[in-house]
Amino acid sequence: MSRFWTQVVRDLTPYVPGEQPKIANLIKLNTNENPFPPSPAVLAAIRAELGDDAARLRLYPDPNADLLKAAIARRHGVEPRQVFVGNGSDEVLAHAFQALLRHDAPILFPDITYSFYPVYCGLYGVDYETVPLAADFSIDPEGYCGRRCGGVIFPNPNAPTGRLLGLDAVARIAAANPDAVVVTDEAYVDFGGESAIPLVARHDNLLVVHTLSKSRSLAGLRVGFAIGHPDLIEALERVKNSFNSYPLDRLAIVGAVAAIEDEAHFIDCCRRVVATRDALTADLSALGFDVLPSAANFVFARHPQHDAGELAAALRERSIIVRHFRLPRIDQFLRITVGTDGECAALAAALRAILA
Ligand SMILES: *Cc1c(COP(=O)(O)O)cnc(C)c1O
Repeated sequence: MSRFWTQVVRDLTPYVPGEQPKIANLIKLNTNENPFPPSPAVLAAIRAELGDDAARLRLYPDPNADLLKAAIARRHGVEPRQVFVGNGSDEVLAHAFQALLRHDAPILFPDITYSFYPVYCGLYGVDYETVPLAADFSIDPEGYCGRRCGGVIFPNPNAPTGRLLGLDAVARIAAANPDAVVVTDEAYVDFGGESAIPLVARHDNLLVVHTLSKSRSLAGLRVGFAIGHPDLIEALERVKNSFNSYPLDRLAIVGAVAAIEDEAHFIDCCRRVVATRDALTADLSALGFDVLPSAANFVFARHPQHDAGELAAALRERSIIVRHFRLPRIDQFLRITVGTDGECAALAAALRAILA
Protein backbone atom coordinates (compact mmCIF):
# COMPACT_ATOMS: atom_id res chain seq x y z
CA MET A 1 0.00 0.00 0.00
CA SER A 2 1.29 3.44 -0.88
CA ARG A 3 -0.21 6.90 -0.69
CA PHE A 4 0.32 7.11 -4.46
CA TRP A 5 -2.14 4.32 -5.20
CA THR A 6 -5.52 5.23 -6.63
CA GLN A 7 -8.65 3.93 -4.91
CA VAL A 8 -9.17 1.44 -7.76
CA VAL A 9 -5.75 -0.08 -7.15
CA ARG A 10 -6.27 -0.21 -3.38
CA ASP A 11 -9.47 -2.19 -3.89
CA LEU A 12 -8.09 -4.73 -6.40
CA THR A 13 -7.64 -8.42 -5.59
CA PRO A 14 -5.42 -9.53 -8.50
CA TYR A 15 -5.60 -12.97 -10.10
CA VAL A 16 -2.80 -15.36 -9.14
CA PRO A 17 -1.79 -17.57 -12.07
CA GLY A 18 -0.43 -21.08 -11.57
CA GLU A 19 3.24 -21.13 -10.77
CA GLN A 20 5.84 -21.03 -13.58
CA PRO A 21 8.81 -22.47 -11.66
CA LYS A 22 12.32 -21.41 -12.59
CA ILE A 23 13.74 -24.86 -11.71
CA ALA A 24 14.40 -27.39 -14.49
CA ASN A 25 13.35 -31.05 -14.58
CA LEU A 26 10.00 -30.59 -12.92
CA ILE A 27 6.99 -32.48 -14.17
CA LYS A 28 4.72 -29.50 -14.63
CA LEU A 29 1.05 -30.47 -14.55
CA ASN A 30 -0.32 -27.29 -12.99
CA THR A 31 -1.34 -24.78 -15.69
CA ASN A 32 -2.97 -26.84 -18.45
CA GLU A 33 -0.32 -26.19 -21.06
CA ASN A 34 -0.15 -28.64 -23.96
CA PRO A 35 2.64 -31.23 -23.59
CA PHE A 36 3.30 -31.25 -27.34
CA PRO A 37 5.05 -28.53 -29.36
CA PRO A 38 3.01 -26.34 -31.71
CA SER A 39 2.79 -27.05 -35.44
CA PRO A 40 6.23 -26.84 -37.12
CA ALA A 41 4.57 -24.33 -39.47
CA VAL A 42 4.46 -21.86 -36.55
CA LEU A 43 8.25 -21.78 -36.25
CA ALA A 44 8.63 -21.51 -40.04
CA ALA A 45 6.20 -18.57 -40.18
CA ILE A 46 7.91 -16.76 -37.31
CA ARG A 47 11.35 -17.32 -38.90
CA ALA A 48 10.06 -16.02 -42.23
CA GLU A 49 8.61 -12.94 -40.55
CA LEU A 50 11.92 -12.25 -38.79
CA GLY A 51 14.01 -12.74 -41.96
CA ASP A 52 17.78 -12.45 -41.70
CA ASP A 53 17.95 -9.17 -39.83
CA ALA A 54 14.56 -8.80 -38.13
CA ALA A 55 14.22 -5.49 -39.98
CA ARG A 56 10.44 -5.85 -40.06
CA LEU A 57 10.36 -5.43 -36.30
CA ARG A 58 11.01 -1.72 -36.98
CA LEU A 59 7.45 -1.51 -38.19
CA TYR A 60 4.25 -1.73 -36.18
CA PRO A 61 2.14 -4.82 -36.78
CA ASP A 62 -1.27 -4.64 -38.48
CA PRO A 63 -3.45 -3.11 -35.73
CA ASN A 64 -6.41 -5.18 -36.94
CA ALA A 65 -4.51 -8.45 -37.49
CA ASP A 66 -6.59 -8.93 -40.65
CA LEU A 67 -4.64 -12.00 -41.80
CA LEU A 68 -5.41 -13.76 -38.54
CA LYS A 69 -9.07 -12.74 -38.50
CA ALA A 70 -9.41 -14.09 -42.04
CA ALA A 71 -7.78 -17.41 -41.07
CA ILE A 72 -10.03 -17.78 -38.01
CA ALA A 73 -13.12 -16.84 -40.02
CA ARG A 74 -12.28 -19.46 -42.69
CA ARG A 75 -11.61 -22.15 -40.08
CA HIS A 76 -14.88 -21.53 -38.24
CA GLY A 77 -17.17 -20.67 -41.16
CA VAL A 78 -17.95 -17.10 -40.11
CA GLU A 79 -17.21 -13.64 -41.53
CA PRO A 80 -14.08 -11.72 -40.49
CA ARG A 81 -16.30 -9.00 -38.96
CA GLN A 82 -17.56 -11.64 -36.52
CA VAL A 83 -14.02 -12.19 -35.20
CA PHE A 84 -12.13 -10.27 -32.50
CA VAL A 85 -8.52 -11.13 -31.63
CA GLY A 86 -6.58 -10.28 -28.48
CA ASN A 87 -3.39 -10.83 -26.52
CA GLY A 88 -4.49 -14.13 -25.04
CA SER A 89 -8.11 -14.89 -24.33
CA ASP A 90 -7.68 -13.29 -20.92
CA GLU A 91 -7.45 -9.94 -22.71
CA VAL A 92 -10.48 -10.79 -24.86
CA LEU A 93 -12.41 -11.68 -21.68
CA ALA A 94 -11.31 -8.47 -19.97
CA HIS A 95 -12.65 -6.41 -22.86
CA ALA A 96 -15.89 -8.41 -22.80
CA PHE A 97 -16.37 -7.55 -19.11
CA GLN A 98 -15.84 -3.88 -19.82
CA ALA A 99 -17.71 -3.67 -23.11
CA LEU A 100 -20.59 -6.11 -22.88
CA LEU A 101 -21.43 -7.39 -19.42
CA ARG A 102 -24.03 -4.86 -18.38
CA HIS A 103 -23.51 -2.89 -15.22
CA ASP A 104 -27.06 -2.15 -14.06
CA ALA A 105 -27.74 -5.70 -12.84
CA PRO A 106 -25.39 -8.35 -11.45
CA ILE A 107 -23.88 -10.75 -13.95
CA LEU A 108 -24.02 -14.49 -13.26
CA PHE A 109 -21.32 -17.14 -13.25
CA PRO A 110 -20.86 -20.50 -11.47
CA ASP A 111 -19.68 -20.59 -7.84
CA ILE A 112 -16.85 -22.85 -8.96
CA THR A 113 -15.24 -21.52 -12.11
CA TYR A 114 -12.32 -19.64 -13.65
CA SER A 115 -11.15 -17.42 -10.80
CA PHE A 116 -10.31 -14.55 -13.15
CA TYR A 117 -14.01 -13.64 -13.56
CA PRO A 118 -14.45 -12.03 -10.11
CA VAL A 119 -11.12 -10.23 -10.64
CA TYR A 120 -12.42 -8.57 -13.83
CA CYS A 121 -15.60 -7.65 -11.95
CA GLY A 122 -13.44 -5.91 -9.37
CA LEU A 123 -11.36 -4.12 -12.00
CA TYR A 124 -14.36 -2.86 -14.00
CA GLY A 125 -16.88 -2.42 -11.19
CA VAL A 126 -19.24 -5.14 -12.45
CA ASP A 127 -21.63 -6.61 -9.83
CA TYR A 128 -21.96 -10.37 -9.85
CA GLU A 129 -23.83 -13.23 -8.25
CA THR A 130 -22.65 -16.83 -8.37
CA VAL A 131 -24.87 -19.78 -9.25
CA PRO A 132 -23.99 -23.01 -7.42
CA LEU A 133 -22.91 -25.99 -9.48
CA ALA A 134 -25.09 -29.06 -9.03
CA ALA A 135 -23.96 -31.71 -6.52
CA ASP A 136 -22.18 -33.58 -9.35
CA PHE A 137 -20.27 -30.35 -10.17
CA SER A 138 -22.12 -29.83 -13.45
CA ILE A 139 -23.53 -26.45 -14.49
CA ASP A 140 -27.32 -26.38 -14.08
CA PRO A 141 -28.63 -24.27 -17.00
CA GLU A 142 -31.85 -23.47 -15.12
CA GLY A 143 -29.84 -21.34 -12.68
CA TYR A 144 -29.16 -18.90 -15.54
CA CYS A 145 -32.71 -18.75 -16.91
CA GLY A 146 -35.70 -16.71 -15.78
CA ARG A 147 -33.87 -14.13 -13.69
CA ARG A 148 -32.87 -10.58 -14.46
CA CYS A 149 -29.13 -10.31 -14.91
CA GLY A 150 -26.53 -8.10 -16.55
CA GLY A 151 -24.93 -10.97 -18.42
CA VAL A 152 -23.75 -14.55 -18.06
CA ILE A 153 -20.29 -16.05 -18.37
CA PHE A 154 -19.06 -19.62 -17.92
CA PRO A 155 -16.27 -21.76 -19.31
CA ASN A 156 -17.39 -24.78 -21.33
CA PRO A 157 -15.98 -27.23 -20.41
CA ASN A 158 -15.95 -25.58 -17.00
CA ALA A 159 -12.67 -24.92 -15.20
CA PRO A 160 -11.42 -26.36 -12.94
CA THR A 161 -13.99 -29.17 -13.00
CA GLY A 162 -13.58 -30.19 -16.68
CA ARG A 163 -17.31 -30.91 -16.94
CA LEU A 164 -19.01 -30.19 -20.25
CA LEU A 165 -22.38 -28.51 -20.77
CA GLY A 166 -24.28 -29.65 -23.88
CA LEU A 167 -24.93 -27.24 -26.75
CA ASP A 168 -28.68 -27.47 -26.21
CA ALA A 169 -28.17 -26.07 -22.69
CA VAL A 170 -25.92 -23.27 -24.01
CA ALA A 171 -28.62 -22.37 -26.55
CA ARG A 172 -31.26 -22.46 -23.80
CA ILE A 173 -29.26 -20.00 -21.65
CA ALA A 174 -28.73 -17.66 -24.63
CA ALA A 175 -32.44 -17.81 -25.55
CA ALA A 176 -33.54 -17.18 -21.96
CA ASN A 177 -31.45 -13.98 -21.75
CA PRO A 178 -32.26 -12.09 -24.98
CA ASP A 179 -31.35 -8.71 -23.44
CA ALA A 180 -28.03 -9.74 -21.90
CA VAL A 181 -24.78 -11.03 -23.37
CA VAL A 182 -23.91 -14.66 -22.71
CA VAL A 183 -20.18 -15.41 -22.94
CA THR A 184 -19.02 -18.99 -23.26
CA ASP A 185 -15.30 -19.35 -22.62
CA GLU A 186 -14.27 -22.37 -24.68
CA ALA A 187 -10.60 -22.55 -23.67
CA TYR A 188 -10.81 -26.37 -23.50
CA VAL A 189 -13.54 -27.20 -26.00
CA ASP A 190 -11.20 -28.90 -28.49
CA PHE A 191 -10.50 -31.75 -26.06
CA GLY A 192 -13.94 -33.30 -26.27
CA GLY A 193 -16.59 -30.61 -26.49
CA GLU A 194 -18.58 -29.19 -29.34
CA SER A 195 -18.15 -25.46 -29.93
CA ALA A 196 -21.10 -23.07 -29.66
CA ILE A 197 -19.75 -21.05 -32.62
CA PRO A 198 -22.51 -22.33 -34.96
CA LEU A 199 -25.06 -20.93 -32.47
CA VAL A 200 -23.93 -17.30 -32.91
CA ALA A 201 -25.83 -17.16 -36.23
CA ARG A 202 -29.09 -17.62 -34.29
CA HIS A 203 -28.21 -15.82 -31.03
CA ASP A 204 -27.03 -12.23 -31.43
CA ASN A 205 -26.25 -12.11 -27.68
CA LEU A 206 -23.82 -15.06 -27.67
CA LEU A 207 -20.06 -14.48 -27.61
CA VAL A 208 -17.77 -17.51 -27.90
CA VAL A 209 -14.19 -17.06 -26.67
CA HIS A 210 -11.27 -19.30 -27.70
CA THR A 211 -7.55 -19.42 -26.97
CA LEU A 212 -4.54 -20.80 -28.83
CA SER A 213 -2.88 -21.47 -25.45
CA LYS A 214 -4.23 -24.95 -24.82
CA SER A 215 -5.22 -27.00 -27.90
CA ARG A 216 -2.78 -25.16 -30.23
CA SER A 217 0.20 -25.38 -27.81
CA LEU A 218 0.83 -21.62 -27.91
CA ALA A 219 0.44 -20.37 -24.33
CA GLY A 220 3.72 -18.50 -24.77
CA LEU A 221 2.59 -16.60 -27.89
CA ARG A 222 -0.50 -15.01 -26.25
CA VAL A 223 -3.34 -15.22 -28.77
CA GLY A 224 -7.05 -15.56 -28.12
CA PHE A 225 -10.17 -14.66 -30.05
CA ALA A 226 -13.92 -14.19 -29.81
CA ILE A 227 -16.66 -14.94 -32.33
CA GLY A 228 -20.08 -13.34 -32.20
CA HIS A 229 -22.50 -10.94 -33.87
CA PRO A 230 -20.69 -8.00 -35.55
CA ASP A 231 -22.28 -5.59 -33.04
CA LEU A 232 -20.68 -7.49 -30.14
CA ILE A 233 -17.35 -7.55 -31.99
CA GLU A 234 -17.57 -3.80 -32.62
CA ALA A 235 -17.99 -3.20 -28.88
CA LEU A 236 -14.79 -5.17 -28.22
CA GLU A 237 -12.96 -3.25 -30.97
CA ARG A 238 -14.03 0.06 -29.42
CA VAL A 239 -12.52 -0.93 -26.07
CA LYS A 240 -9.40 -2.39 -27.70
CA ASN A 241 -8.86 0.79 -29.74
CA SER A 242 -9.18 2.85 -26.58
CA PHE A 243 -6.59 0.73 -24.77
CA ASN A 244 -3.88 -0.71 -27.05
CA SER A 245 -3.93 -0.46 -30.84
CA TYR A 246 -1.43 -3.31 -31.27
CA PRO A 247 -2.25 -6.13 -28.85
CA LEU A 248 -0.79 -8.77 -31.20
CA ASP A 249 2.78 -8.40 -32.34
CA ARG A 250 4.07 -9.43 -35.78
CA LEU A 251 5.33 -12.83 -34.62
CA ALA A 252 2.08 -13.63 -32.83
CA ILE A 253 -0.01 -12.81 -35.90
CA VAL A 254 1.93 -14.98 -38.35
CA GLY A 255 2.46 -17.78 -35.80
CA ALA A 256 -1.23 -17.90 -34.97
CA VAL A 257 -2.22 -18.00 -38.65
CA ALA A 258 0.14 -20.95 -39.21
CA ALA A 259 -1.28 -22.77 -36.18
CA ILE A 260 -4.89 -22.25 -37.25
CA GLU A 261 -4.10 -23.50 -40.76
CA ASP A 262 -2.40 -26.74 -39.65
CA GLU A 263 -5.53 -28.77 -39.01
CA ALA A 264 -3.75 -32.14 -39.17
CA HIS A 265 -1.27 -31.27 -36.39
CA PHE A 266 -4.09 -29.85 -34.27
CA ILE A 267 -6.27 -32.94 -34.63
CA ASP A 268 -3.36 -35.25 -33.85
CA CYS A 269 -2.34 -33.35 -30.67
CA CYS A 270 -5.92 -33.22 -29.37
CA ARG A 271 -6.39 -36.93 -30.06
CA ARG A 272 -3.21 -37.80 -28.16
CA VAL A 273 -4.16 -35.62 -25.18
CA VAL A 274 -7.61 -37.23 -25.02
CA ALA A 275 -6.13 -40.74 -25.14
CA THR A 276 -3.70 -39.89 -22.33
CA ARG A 277 -6.49 -38.27 -20.30
CA ASP A 278 -8.53 -41.44 -20.50
CA ALA A 279 -5.55 -43.57 -19.41
CA LEU A 280 -4.79 -41.14 -16.54
CA THR A 281 -8.43 -41.24 -15.43
CA ALA A 282 -8.28 -45.05 -15.33
CA ASP A 283 -4.98 -45.00 -13.35
CA LEU A 284 -6.34 -42.50 -10.81
CA SER A 285 -9.58 -44.45 -10.41
CA ALA A 286 -7.57 -47.62 -9.78
CA LEU A 287 -5.75 -45.73 -6.99
CA GLY A 288 -9.08 -44.94 -5.36
CA PHE A 289 -9.58 -41.38 -6.63
CA ASP A 290 -12.99 -40.03 -7.62
CA VAL A 291 -12.36 -38.41 -11.00
CA LEU A 292 -14.93 -36.05 -12.50
CA PRO A 293 -15.72 -36.81 -16.16
CA SER A 294 -13.47 -34.42 -18.07
CA ALA A 295 -13.83 -32.96 -21.56
CA ALA A 296 -10.68 -30.86 -21.04
CA ASN A 297 -6.89 -31.37 -21.00
CA PHE A 298 -6.93 -31.82 -17.24
CA VAL A 299 -8.69 -33.98 -14.70
CA PHE A 300 -10.21 -32.93 -11.39
CA ALA A 301 -9.90 -35.67 -8.79
CA ARG A 302 -10.19 -36.26 -5.05
CA HIS A 303 -9.20 -39.15 -2.84
CA PRO A 304 -11.71 -40.06 -0.13
CA GLN A 305 -8.97 -40.92 2.40
CA HIS A 306 -6.20 -38.42 1.64
CA ASP A 307 -6.08 -34.66 2.06
CA ALA A 308 -5.59 -32.92 -1.29
CA GLY A 309 -3.22 -30.29 0.11
CA GLU A 310 -1.00 -32.99 1.60
CA LEU A 311 -1.02 -34.96 -1.64
CA ALA A 312 -0.02 -31.85 -3.61
CA ALA A 313 2.83 -31.20 -1.17
CA ALA A 314 4.02 -34.81 -1.35
CA LEU A 315 3.97 -34.69 -5.17
CA ARG A 316 5.97 -31.48 -5.10
CA GLU A 317 8.66 -33.21 -3.01
CA ARG A 318 8.87 -35.65 -5.89
CA SER A 319 9.22 -32.75 -8.37
CA ILE A 320 5.69 -33.03 -9.72
CA ILE A 321 3.48 -29.96 -9.53
CA VAL A 322 -0.30 -30.02 -9.80
CA ARG A 323 -2.88 -27.37 -8.90
CA HIS A 324 -4.67 -27.31 -5.55
CA PHE A 325 -7.25 -24.60 -4.81
CA ARG A 326 -7.93 -23.72 -1.17
CA LEU A 327 -11.53 -22.80 -1.95
CA PRO A 328 -14.91 -23.90 -0.56
CA ARG A 329 -16.31 -27.14 -2.05
CA ILE A 330 -13.13 -27.98 -3.98
CA ASP A 331 -10.34 -27.92 -1.39
CA GLN A 332 -10.18 -31.73 -1.45
CA PHE A 333 -9.59 -31.85 -5.23
CA LEU A 334 -6.42 -31.78 -7.29
CA ARG A 335 -6.46 -30.39 -10.81
CA ILE A 336 -3.98 -32.36 -12.86
CA THR A 337 -3.00 -31.29 -16.38
CA VAL A 338 -2.75 -34.08 -18.94
CA GLY A 339 0.95 -34.29 -19.79
CA THR A 340 2.75 -36.76 -22.01
CA ASP A 341 2.15 -40.47 -21.44
CA GLY A 342 5.50 -40.59 -19.59
CA GLU A 343 4.64 -37.65 -17.32
CA CYS A 344 1.25 -39.11 -16.46
CA ALA A 345 2.80 -42.51 -15.74
CA ALA A 346 5.33 -40.80 -13.43
CA LEU A 347 2.49 -39.02 -11.65
CA ALA A 348 0.56 -42.26 -11.17
CA ALA A 349 3.69 -44.01 -9.86
CA ALA A 350 4.39 -41.16 -7.42
CA LEU A 351 0.80 -41.23 -6.13
CA ARG A 352 0.99 -45.02 -5.75
CA ALA A 353 4.11 -44.59 -3.58
CA ILE A 354 2.57 -41.73 -1.56
CA LEU A 355 -0.67 -43.60 -0.87
CA ALA A 356 1.13 -46.82 0.12
C1 LIG B 1 -6.37 -20.86 -19.83
C2 LIG B 1 -7.72 -20.20 -19.75
C3 LIG B 1 -7.93 -18.94 -20.29
C4 LIG B 1 -6.81 -18.03 -20.70
O1 LIG B 1 -6.17 -18.33 -21.79
P1 LIG B 1 -5.09 -17.35 -22.42
O2 LIG B 1 -5.52 -17.29 -23.83
O3 LIG B 1 -3.79 -18.02 -22.22
O4 LIG B 1 -5.16 -15.99 -21.77
C5 LIG B 1 -9.21 -18.42 -20.30
N1 LIG B 1 -10.23 -19.08 -19.74
C6 LIG B 1 -10.06 -20.27 -19.16
C7 LIG B 1 -11.21 -20.96 -18.53
C8 LIG B 1 -8.79 -20.86 -19.12
O5 LIG B 1 -8.60 -22.00 -18.49
